[in-house]
Amino acid sequence: MVQSRSHVSIVGGGIGGLFAANALAAQGVPVSVYEQAPVIGEVGAGVFLTPNSVRHLQRIGLGPAVEQWGARVGHDSRYFRHDGAPIAPVQVTDSSGWNATFGMHRADLVEMLANALPAGTVHTGHRCTGFEQDGSTARVSFANGASTEADVVIAADGIHSELRPYVFASSRPVFSGSVAYRGLVPHERVPHWPTDRWQMWLGKGRHFLAFPVRSGKLINYVGFVPTDEEMKESWSAPGDPDILRLAFAGWDPRIHQLLNEVQITFRWALYDREPLPVWTRQRLSLLGDAAHPMLPHLGQGANQSIEDGMALATILARADRRTAPLALLAYERLRRERVAQVQRGARENGLRYDSAYSDLGVRDAEITAHAAFRKRLYDHDVLPDAQAAAATLA
Ligand SMILES: Cc1cc2nc3c(=O)[nH]c(=O)nc-3n(C[C@H](O)[C@H](O)[C@H](O)COP(=O)(O)OP(=O)(O)OC[C@H]3O[C@@H](n4cnc5c(N)ncnc54)[C@H](O)[C@@H]3O)c2cc1C
Repeated sequence: MVQSRSHVSIVGGGIGGLFAANALAAQGVPVSVYEQAPVIGEVGAGVFLTPNSVRHLQRIGLGPAVEQWGARVGHDSRYFRHDGAPIAPVQVTDSSGWNATFGMHRADLVEMLANALPAGTVHTGHRCTGFEQDGSTARVSFANGASTEADVVIAADGIHSELRPYVFASSRPVFSGSVAYRGLVPHERVPHWPTDRWQMWLGKGRHFLAFPVRSGKLINYVGFVPTDEEMKESWSAPGDPDILRLAFAGWDPRIHQLLNEVQITFRWALYDREPLPVWTRQRLSLLGDAAHPMLPHLGQGANQSIEDGMALATILARADRRTAPLALLAYERLRRERVAQVQRGARENGLRYDSAYSDLGVRDAEITAHAAFRKRLYDHDVLPDAQAAAATLA
């Protein structure tokens, strides 16, 4: 029998934290989000949403907004060799044939998530600097002098998480040896560029991706290139469009048509971490990149954080102040191994994409066969298992 609702404080107002807040609010759980930035926002780049998370966005009522602001990609999506020779179609549906694969502008997604929350839920300008907990309460303190108490604190504060050391101390980020150049090109600058497909070109040590966002008004590109330089201090920085163009010189001329229109680009050093052995300490749990930063080679970091949020909200909705720590452990049990598989899968797929094979025929066969993995990934619905886990708390 539930005696009182857990009050949940989420640190971090990125895609993961904002989705979790929506999923909790939808179940009637009081929730607050604390974000360090003065305003909610995201970088000028795209994110690809897949059926395994879109079904949860639909459940919190954001299906129409995703359709409106996203750009659905279809069956002409393809992998190509670096020169433009087609390799294989891209899996854009789950096993039932449901196509819910959308390119989204990140700013559109976070704005949509923030606007859907009850007024007063999000507190910007709150950089978390401290945490403590006892048997009954967790406390978060902020650089601006404020502090808050909650039954449960969720660390959704990204790969550099301030709160992760309160759960698990010794985890070092692993540098992949690659950087991603990314940005957006207005479609009117490349009017012949298709707005209904996700396209990726694969070459030795590097690969190039493009997909539409914002109903096809913008084309998002990502150029993955090797580097010797570990961008330790600054993990994202302005990049030089000419260096980006040079990195893909001699590739499919279509890539050059797009890159010729690039005036501003940003470089992202690509890091992940080994899967963590624990995500929870009593009343504190990790979510999204704070729990499982992964390489972007399956396009799943944000999608998995949305799955996390649905699982967490479904379980916490059945918990009270007393059972909240058990609920967090149940959430961790449900999520940790699945996400670890996706983390490992992203590393493996990166090797495929960067053509680390002596026989490209083998690579192409693996890319073709990869559709089956994607289907399993996209078929997954975390909700029934979360409901079953929640039932054990009652
Ligand atoms: C090149 C590239 C391409 C990608 N493409 C895809 C894709 O197509 N699909 C996909 O699913 N994923 C993709 N990802 C991964 C995805 O971007 C991340 O997994 C996702 O954004 C993580 O969301 P998050 O909310 O957990 O963390 P973040 O987005 O990092 O959000 C963390 C938030 O916490 C705030 N914060 C940090 N510290 C504090 C503090 N101390 N106090 C208060 N607030 C704090 C930050 O300001 C931020 O708003 C890609 C990543 C990269 C690098």
